[in-house]
Formats: sequence, C-alpha cells, structure tokens
Amino acid sequence: MNKKLRQAVIAGNWKMNKTRPEAKALIEELKPIAEKAACGVVICVPYTNLETAVALTAGTNIKVGAENCHFEKSGAFTGEVSADMLKEVGVEYVIIGHSERRQYFGETDVTVNKRTKAALAAGLNVIVCVGEMLDEREKGITDEIVAMQTKVALLGVTAEQLKNVIIAYEPVWAIGTGKTASAEQANEVCSLIRATVAKLYTQADADALTIQYGGSMNPKNAAELLAQPDVDGGLIGGASLKANDFGVLLEAASI
Ligand code: PEP
Repeated sequence: MNKKLRQAVIAGNWKMNKTRPEAKALIEELKPIAEKAACGVVICVPYTNLETAVALTAGTNIKVGAENCHFEKSGAFTGEVSADMLKEVGVEYVIIGHSERRQYFGETDVTVNKRTKAALAAGLNVIVCVGEMLDEREKGITDEIVAMQTKVALLGVTAEQLKNVIIAYEPVWAIGTGKTASAEQANEVCSLIRATVAKLYTQADADALTIQYGGSMNPKNAAELLAQPDVDGGLIGGASLKANDFGVLLEAASI
C-alpha cells in the first residue's frame, strides 16, 4: 500500500453547531491555519451556513461540504435538500450516511446508496460513512458489517465516479464519546475497506481511494492514527469546532 497514491483529507463535521456569526468567526480563524496544510481541507457545515462558508472560503484551500442531501432531484420531501441545490450554492462535498443520520433519522444502507448516487450524479464529492456499533464489535462481526455497508453504499457507482468518493471509517462507539479506536484497530478496518473496494473495482482504484478514520480524533491522538498506512486523513467532529485543534490535525495529516 502506498499512501502517496492518494490524498489525505481532513474534513470537519460541524454537525448542528454554529450560528452564522460564529461560523464566520471560525472560518476567519481557520483560513491562515489551513493555508499551510499539504492535505485536503474540507469543512462540512449546517445548511444555514453553506452560503456564508462558500463566500468566505472563495480563493482559499478550504472546500465546503454539507452534512447530508436527499436522493430525489426535487419534490414533496419537506425538510430535505437535494444534491443539485447544494451544487448550486457552490458546495463541493457532502457527508452521506453519518452514524447520527443512521441512528436518529432512519438512514439505511439502501438510502445511503441512493443519496451517494444522487450526490455523485450532481457532481459532488461524497464522504460515505461506515462503521460498526459497539455490540457488533463485541460480537466479532465488525468486518462483515463494514464490508456490507461499503458494498451496498457503492452499488451502481462507476469506477469513474469512485474518484469522487471518500470513505470514512467511523466506529459508532468512538463518535463523540472520547473513546478512540486504537491506531491498529483503525488501520485494520480501513485496510479491510480498501480490500473490499479492490474486489468491487480494481486494486489501482482501491489504492487511489482516500479512506479516513473518524471518532474522537483530537490533537493528542491524531499523529499516530494518521501515520497508519491505510488511514488517509480524518472526519472530525468535536475537534473541528476549534481552529487551533483542527490546525493540529491538518499539520499531522500533512506529513
Ligand atoms: C463525526 O462526527 O464524524 C465525529 C467523528 O465526531 P467526533 O470527532 O466528535 O467523535
């Protein structure tokens, strides 16, 4: 495996945080910090902050993402936002299948696949989240769960479209809990995801795929996680809300 074959990407997931003035302040603080990064830099923000984020990051190396999108182009889907709508406001990335969407909003592997295909068709880059629950890890079925989530998410995604996909391995028990997967555990599952993708496409496609780890990554544990051969960056919740902490992760991913 050669990390040089793919780009490390650090993506912040702000979740349901930051009013518009708070978002402006964080982005302004982040801009000079992100400028030094040799890795990809993405901030995924609430819908209400998308236009602000796109305007404030224009001409910088920070890309803007949304945290979800619907699979239909338009219609009677109250409260939803389509991939085309995101594209129209200048958004470049979207997170699909975050465990909080799966846990609280009935997202399934099938809807994750539909949203992924819709986002790719609209020309967005997709960060697809996969990961096992604690009881699944304890039962020893992590590999099966993650392989299945990966396979279903990518059903009907072409090799060309795969170039616009990032997979984020996020063990559910490590998200927002302060419990991090060990570097070995993170690498083991990221490596399994790569092997699964190699079987679906080619080894070269799998080697070019960015696979992030997410789950309580912070300035203290980032260097070890990001040094793993199959971990190509991170999807970051809590630590993405503080510019300096996010900066430490960008630095660790830039080596
Ligand atoms: C996330 O929201 O994807 C995440 C990994 O959160 P945290 O870093 O807070 O665990």
